[in-house]
Amino acid sequence: LKNMFAFLRPDLAHLQAYNPAHPSGNTLDRLDGNESYLDLPPELKQKLAWTYQEIIATNRYPDGGHGELKEAIAAYVNTYTLNSPNSSQPRITPEYISVGNGSDELIRSILIATCLGGSGSILVAEPTFSMYGITAETLGIPVQKIPRHNQDWSMDLEAADQTIAAQEQSPVRIVFVVHPNSPTGNALTPAEINWLRGLPENILVVIDEAYFEYCQQSLVGELVDRPNWLIMRTFSKAMRLAAHRVGYAIAHPQIIETLEKIRLPYNLPSLSQAAALLALHHRDELLSVVEQVITQRQSLIEELTTQPDLKKFFRVWSSAANFIYLRLQNEQNVDSSQILARIIHEMQAQGTLIRHTGGGLRITIGSPEENQRTLTRLAKVVDRLS
Ligand SMILES: *Cc1c(COP(=O)(O)O)cnc(C)c1O
Repeated sequence: LKNMFAFLRPDLAHLQAYNPAHPSGNTLDRLDGNESYLDLPPELKQKLAWTYQEIIATNRYPDGGHGELKEAIAAYVNTYTLNSPNSSQPRITPEYISVGNGSDELIRSILIATCLGGSGSILVAEPTFSMYGITAETLGIPVQKIPRHNQDWSMDLEAADQTIAAQEQSPVRIVFVVHPNSPTGNALTPAEINWLRGLPENILVVIDEAYFEYCQQSLVGELVDRPNWLIMRTFSKAMRLAAHRVGYAIAHPQIIETLEKIRLPYNLPSLSQAAALLALHHRDELLSVVEQVITQRQSLIEELTTQPDLKKFFRVWSSAANFIYLRLQNEQNVDSSQILARIIHEMQAQGTLIRHTGGGLRITIGSPEENQRTLTRLAKVVDRLS
């Protein structure tokens, strides 16, 4: 078979497909995907079903311009960007918005618009969301990786500066950051934000605010003054619409115009557009659970840092999102990664799916019952391993 499929690019051979969260349709506690643990409320699902029944014509293409959705997104972005005292500050208009089939599509469009064809590389600080690197590599775009400080998971900015200055074969065209970061849960520090502000204008700064609704900190207020910044958000997390694949980019209209040229013409099915509009109309109801998730997150961290056996075994960090990040206390252990794999396995055997990523464990905050089971089951695993 060696010479078969010679038409496939050889550089793709060593890549691995994105390892998606959990197999669907089971009764496990699915705490490996950072989704909301709540489905849409039944009344809203019914409304959506009504829209499908009465409004959507399945023989017709979707609205390829996303006009109504962009209006609603712009309004949403503006209501949550009121921390600016200057009310005359320019507001986000639909020209600042592009909607993708999940943020994943936007990541790809951004890479095509900037680095494709040997014109540049991207910079990421690991551990971070893996899709930036995976997607870049599928397009033959080099990925430059810098480390983070493991006290607070902030980026090693000195290493970042050196990497950018080195400019080796391909200059850095994009810096990807997540605010707050996945899997480590930390929001950008003032020093990191200042560093982003100081980056040259020929570098695109992508700030992924996928968990914005959980942390309520956004850099959108600065966007109008920073034409080389792009902010991404998604309906997949706090908005409870992971099944519908809707993400959006907020950036200067000229960047948006380019992304619109690149995306597929009908990238967003009619039902997904309807679902996103519905979620925005009912956002207060959908987001009312955020507070409880934050309380649950705090008590989970509290337990992990006070129960003696757990504390001895795991190190845990504070988080600004709907998940927590753990590492082994004894990381020098040569088998560290095997131990983590075994924990994942034993948690799954007990009925809880969590994620082994970035050298640690990422656990989504679920319902209070799920979180309680997370603790009991972790304690059981630790008991067995120590
Ligand atoms: C979950 C997540 C997303 C969402 O991606 P979609 O394609 O919109 O579902 C984006 N960025 C980060 C960092 C995430 O964790």
